[in-house]
Amino acid sequence: MKLLYNAYIYTQDSSHPTESAIVIDRERIVAVGEANNLLPQYPNAEKQNMGGRFMMPGLTDAHLHLKHYSLSLQKIDCETETKEECLRRVEERARKAEAGEWILGHGWNQNVWGSWPTAAELDAIAPNNPVYLTAKSLHASWANTTALKLANVNLQTSDPQNGQIQRDEKGDATGILLESAMELVGDVIPQSSIDEIANAIEKAQSILWKMGLTGVHDFDRRDSFMALQQLHTQGKLKLRVLKNLPVELLDQAYELGLGAGFGDDWLRIGSIKAFMDGALGPHTAAMFQPYIGEENNRGILNMDGEELFEYGRKAAQVGLAMTVHAIGDRANHEVLNAYEQLRNYEKENNLPALRHRIEHVQVVHPDDAARLGKMNIIASMQPIHATSDMLMADAFWGERSRLAYAMKTQLDHGARLALGSDAPVESPNPFWGLYAAVTRRRADASPSADGWYPEQKLTMAEALEGYTIGPAYAANMENRLGRLAPNYLADLIVLEKDPFTCDTDDLLTMQSSATMVGGEWVYTSITGDGA
Ligand SMILES: [Zn+2]
Repeated sequence: MKLLYNAYIYTQDSSHPTESAIVIDRERIVAVGEANNLLPQYPNAEKQNMGGRFMMPGLTDAHLHLKHYSLSLQKIDCETETKEECLRRVEERARKAEAGEWILGHGWNQNVWGSWPTAAELDAIAPNNPVYLTAKSLHASWANTTALKLANVNLQTSDPQNGQIQRDEKGDATGILLESAMELVGDVIPQSSIDEIANAIEKAQSILWKMGLTGVHDFDRRDSFMALQQLHTQGKLKLRVLKNLPVELLDQAYELGLGAGFGDDWLRIGSIKAFMDGALGPHTAAMFQPYIGEENNRGILNMDGEELFEYGRKAAQVGLAMTVHAIGDRANHEVLNAYEQLRNYEKENNLPALRHRIEHVQVVHPDDAARLGKMNIIASMQPIHATSDMLMADAFWGERSRLAYAMKTQLDHGARLALGSDAPVESPNPFWGLYAAVTRRRADASPSADGWYPEQKLTMAEALEGYTIGPAYAANMENRLGRLAPNYLADLIVLEKDPFTCDTDDLLTMQSSATMVGGEWVYTSITGDGA
């Protein structure tokens, strides 16, 4: 047993909002209270003086891509101010690479650079290596000619469904692949082995602990799941992972009778993930009205509400909720229509009301804004997208941006928030997310002291709930995760400053001083008793 005392504990438990001591037996919390009461009650517990530090439940990122994030830590960072800097980094890597070795990178954004880059620019610096660089949005990629050749992309190649090979006036591929066309090259890159992925996840896990994360909802696929199972079997998984399944595998899940919650408190099945549309960056998010400056472009809708309902109905029969990517107002509308049907279906068939979610909820038509709350649909949102995307949103959605990344609106209408990062699209650092949520500003203080559409700011308490209780609820684990209370899992973090009272800019450099998962300190920088 452990007894941590002399802490300022923010419990997320409304009956005891703050306390100073906590008792932990193996992986669970036994008691939370005042040190004066607990010290005599547990005389044999191993005591640790926390030096007055702030302590709170471990944070969960409710939407990230664990395999991609973990592997991305090994890729070239292409999130550069200029294209030239990105090219310089590729050139540096190419110089060290063996001929034929794939050069991978991630993070560029043509909107920051002012124009789309081309294959020729990569050919000039890496003629002997296939190069494949994914955009920050993950909805576009940039390949060189060697990579395009390996993928057999040429004059004759036709666009795949829901994708586009960007071409110049002569019809030659420019090197830019949009949406599903990305797979043409993506599919010929040698896959990382399960061992390699497991290794990468194990390394990433310690970075996440230091950031203050003790759980994630993972949206990657089979090999991510296999790597996680391998780590779990080896006793190395010390992160609570909720694993979502792609809708393409719904039939298999249905045949197996595989329901939500299968697994254990470390690794368990979540929901069925489907995509309703694309994204803002490449102008593929499905909108009711055209993109500004593109009269004929309203984005791409992958399916309609009816089709989604059919998936949802099938999933509900084995107890799987739906979790649907929807960015544009039209996409969100279609998902909400499907969920309305699904709620009726659940009622008519005496099925439980499942914890359906919408991923991103980026722009919602005013007529639809209250529907998530009304139907108890979880709004899985990423605060940092608001500030990363604000310039794009203003440019491409204009006036409609008032309704975008509207976390406060969703809360006001009674929706539950589950917050995350969509890493590797953004850093999974939850304190950057908290900063964006409470300030609606970037780290450089733009666009203004007041923030972008400041009426959408969350309070720190609301934002923290979105990183703790919200994701726990989405995972059907709110009776044992997201709070520091008796019988809850002992997942907690220790901070040097109180996020409620510190200077908001301190959030940008904040990280966990010590992270406990399942009653075990998995990371600590605190030396000595109470030092
Ligand atoms: Zn995602």
